[in-house]
Amino acid sequence: MNAIILTIGDEILIGHTLDTNSGWMARELVKLGVTVQKMITLADRKEDIMEGLKEAEALADLVLITGGLGPTNDDLTRDTLCEYFNTGLVMSAEVLADLEAFFGKRGRKLTDRNKEQAMVPESCTVLRNPVGTAPGMWFERQQTIFVSMPGVPFEMMEMMENLVIPNIRNGFELPHIIYRHVNTIGIGESYLADLLSEFEKQLPVKLAYLPGLYTVRLRLTACGTDKERLEAILEEQVSQLKVLLADYIYSFDDETMEGMIASLLLEQTATLSTAESCTGGYIAHKITSLPGSSEYFKGTVVSYANEIKAEVLGVQQSALEASGAVSEPVVREMAAGVKHLMKTDYAIAVSGIAGPGGGSPDKPVGTVWIAVAGLDEVITRKYNFGKKRLQNIESTALMALNMLRKLLTRPLD
Ligand code: ATP
Ligand code: MG
Repeated sequence: MNAIILTIGDEILIGHTLDTNSGWMARELVKLGVTVQKMITLADRKEDIMEGLKEAEALADLVLITGGLGPTNDDLTRDTLCEYFNTGLVMSAEVLADLEAFFGKRGRKLTDRNKEQAMVPESCTVLRNPVGTAPGMWFERQQTIFVSMPGVPFEMMEMMENLVIPNIRNGFELPHIIYRHVNTIGIGESYLADLLSEFEKQLPVKLAYLPGLYTVRLRLTACGTDKERLEAILEEQVSQLKVLLADYIYSFDDETMEGMIASLLLEQTATLSTAESCTGGYIAHKITSLPGSSEYFKGTVVSYANEIKAEVLGVQQSALEASGAVSEPVVREMAAGVKHLMKTDYAIAVSGIAGPGGGSPDKPVGTVWIAVAGLDEVITRKYNFGKKRLQNIESTALMALNMLRKLLTRPLD
């Protein structure tokens, strides 16, 4: 089954509303085994909507439409659907009762404009809206199903979950579409592709490369009727990747870097603290965003100013003067200092020039020093990230956590 998603609204086309409906619906459709072929956004213009419907009908078995169902003059979807299906409007007693109840419950009077919303296309099946005023509409013509839903995300979701998804699940035999993700760090997309060129030749499933900031997520997709067999095939491919990419894999599926750190620290019943300059507490924020982090995380010192590095963390004034705040000796002392202060087993320290100002020829914007203190050593590394402040903060947090991950997974000798 192929689907096309049509979102309707000028506010999406001018960039004021982010189209979150399409992504949400696509994720739900994939779970059902429906393949999304296209997503199209259309203006609140009758001719454009007619065109879009025609294109979708020619290609898809299922067309999901959101937006433009409200009671105002800029909402054209219902009337356009009437014209498209050559049908007239009739009063739905059911929708009228829903509207009366909806307004009654809120102590508001049903106006003529609202009553208009009980007028529905004669040839559709009405989808009742328990959380809003505009009903949805289900049309079928030859091999294609059209479902029109409100644009308000929670109204659309409610309608999808209660009516649309169950109808599709019960009405059709659909295949399983399943995924596995392998998350890598520290290797670029093209090097990864070179490394996997032999692997890809024998691959019985689809492989996609999804690059992010210093990471590449690999997605394996399998489609078919026997779910267990598909899972076994994917598992076998993931095992091969584990061997081929051992140095680069940091997690699988939806596990984040901080999630991995959490499991590793819990496994070793070890504790962590951080001393953050350029990240301003962002690493601590990432760690504490996970429930249960109090088990292994003790705290952070946002040592933004040099006097805090010196007075709170005990960094030597001489190190700050001789090497500057963004330097190996300073992050090394910050890590040792916070580890001692908070009595933890591990500590992370970062200091860098996030930008856009503050760079110099020998320390340009994006220069970051990271130290990770382990049970009995401190490892350090210098990175040269880019020019963008928030990206530098994000990259610093990711790389610092990755250094800790490596230390935590290092084989004991
Ligand atoms: P209702 O009749 O329930 O008010 P409607 O069908 O008239 O809904 P719109 O007028 O198109 O819907 O949009 C209503 C609200 O929903 C707007 O605030 C809009 O920004 C938001 N919205 C519309 N389409 C989308 C979309 N594709 N993704 C996210 N939000 C959306
Ligand atoms: Mg509207």
